[in-house]
Amino acid sequence: MNREEMLARVKERTQPWDIAVIGGGAVGAGVAVDASSRGLDVLLVEREDFGKGTSSRSTKLVHGGVRYLEQGNVALVMEALKERGLLLRNAPHIVHNLPFVVPNYSWWEGPFYGVGMKVYDLLAGEYNFGKSRILSLEETLEHLPTIRRDGLRGGVLYHDGQFDDTRLLTHLIATAVDHGATVLNYAAAVAMVKNVEGVVSGIFVEDRESGDRFTTKARVVVNATGIFADETRRLAQPDATTMISPSQGIHLVFDRSFLSGKTAIMVPHTKDGRVMFAIPWHDRTLVGTTDTPMEHASYEPVALGEEIAFILDTAALYLSKPPSREDVLSIYVGIRPLVKRAGAESSNTAALSRDHTIQIDPSGLLTIVGGKWTTYRHMAEDCVNQAITLGGLKDSPCVTFDLRIHGYHEHPEELGELRLYGTDADGIRTLSQANPVLAEKLHPDLPYVGAEIVWGARYEMSRTVDDALARRTRALLLNARAAAAIAPKVARLLAAELGRNEKWEKDQVASFTALAQQYILVPAKQTTEEVRS
Ligand SMILES: Cc1cc2nc3c(=O)[nH]c(=O)nc-3n(C[C@H](O)[C@H](O)[C@H](O)COP(=O)(O)OP(=O)(O)OC[C@H]3O[C@@H](n4cnc5c(N)ncnc54)[C@H](O)[C@@H]3O)c2cc1C
Repeated sequence: MNREEMLARVKERTQPWDIAVIGGGAVGAGVAVDASSRGLDVLLVEREDFGKGTSSRSTKLVHGGVRYLEQGNVALVMEALKERGLLLRNAPHIVHNLPFVVPNYSWWEGPFYGVGMKVYDLLAGEYNFGKSRILSLEETLEHLPTIRRDGLRGGVLYHDGQFDDTRLLTHLIATAVDHGATVLNYAAAVAMVKNVEGVVSGIFVEDRESGDRFTTKARVVVNATGIFADETRRLAQPDATTMISPSQGIHLVFDRSFLSGKTAIMVPHTKDGRVMFAIPWHDRTLVGTTDTPMEHASYEPVALGEEIAFILDTAALYLSKPPSREDVLSIYVGIRPLVKRAGAESSNTAALSRDHTIQIDPSGLLTIVGGKWTTYRHMAEDCVNQAITLGGLKDSPCVTFDLRIHGYHEHPEELGELRLYGTDADGIRTLSQANPVLAEKLHPDLPYVGAEIVWGARYEMSRTVDDALARRTRALLLNARAAAAIAPKVARLLAAELGRNEKWEKDQVASFTALAQQYILVPAKQTTEEVRS
């Protein structure tokens, strides 16, 4: 994947694409994979970096959603459980089975959640990840050595999936490219091209690196812009009504000592009636999430004081060592693109459905929104089926049911630390062998080496320090201070790869350092100015 080459392809193109996808998150990437693997001619444009929106900020679970079961949305749970199974089969290098325990502090919780999890197992059918069962107190402590013990009676064990969201996203984009798609990051759709009947027939694209603007035609334009979907619809139809109800969720990241062991905790009922997770992820403990209705969409939303307090207070109820603000290695925030329900109360986004919606506006723009990361494949299949009808495109069946995702490896455990890269791990090792400096760790508190930064720039269209440290690697989420500390090294590596000058390097370091401040939780009595100095 090379951006210059992709840009040239778009600019040289005179024929319409079958489908132009706006948005390079889970949904847009899924649509590009589905359409290109059916043999359609696809362009995908992304205004920022692939995954800069919501798709890099999830809880990292490939799950049916125990909460949706409680809400009675059996169809959504069954669909998601099936998709969970397909993802494990098609991307075993990125998705794995993770045991969860619901800790029980009341007598009724064991039988109650025990039965609920049996239903969850049943709904998974042939895609089951392992049988749930009620655990004794001793067994619960074996799984969760750091759980709060006062009053603990036992637990209920069940299984779900875990993944690295941006590694999957990067490999979905690569899968689309492997099937002939053209993809471009830092390329915004700034307006719609319309034919004489006023129907959308292409997009005006702005190359955000050079500022150049150009048009490109398409038989169908798909709007997969998540929380920005209404803004995109208004490019085609300024009076389009609002579909999206943004809902913010935050995660706090701590070191592993808070949740040693390989099992996650699921709290089915927090005091605001939500589910909360504490999960082992990349040798850290990830705790989240909240569900706060928001007025506006934004790329770097800010955690509210009450959200932070809520996560810390709830975690303290379940962990023997209660985490404090000082323990937070990183805080990250995302906004769910939930679809408004007529008459639904906007103050309770937790009750809004996680089903997806496809809407074709009178302008001919096809919008796909909602759903979850877990269901991106099914969403994409529905969307491309609609696009084929809408654009009169060559009709061919969806093949993603058993399509292997880029990097697929039958025994990813053999790849050690580079497991997530799948078959690309060889390429990264080759870079390290050719230049031993690239084999060195970038920071003692982070698992990444220089070769991964170079690999991202050379083959995964990583263009900035933020791309390299937030999405091609997860340094910013694992330890925001350490990520800021290596920004100069990373900027130097990227500048050499991308042919940039010293000023570019300096600007990159300055903007990443400012961004990282937002992922650092200032201790209660310390001001932001003190942290910066
Ligand atoms: C806190 C939180 C936790 C979650 N946890 C989970 C989980 O554990 N499991 C799960 O299955 N789901 C989870 N989800 C849901 C999941 O993350 C989202 O449903 C999914 O990522 C949405 O993907 P998307 O492609 O619709 O949106 P996005 O990822 O936001 O992608 C939309 C893209 O469109 C781009 N764009 C916008 N306007 C333009 C334009 N004009 N031109 C070009 N590009 C444009 C944006 O830059 C953006 O990258 C979670 C969500 C949140 C917020």
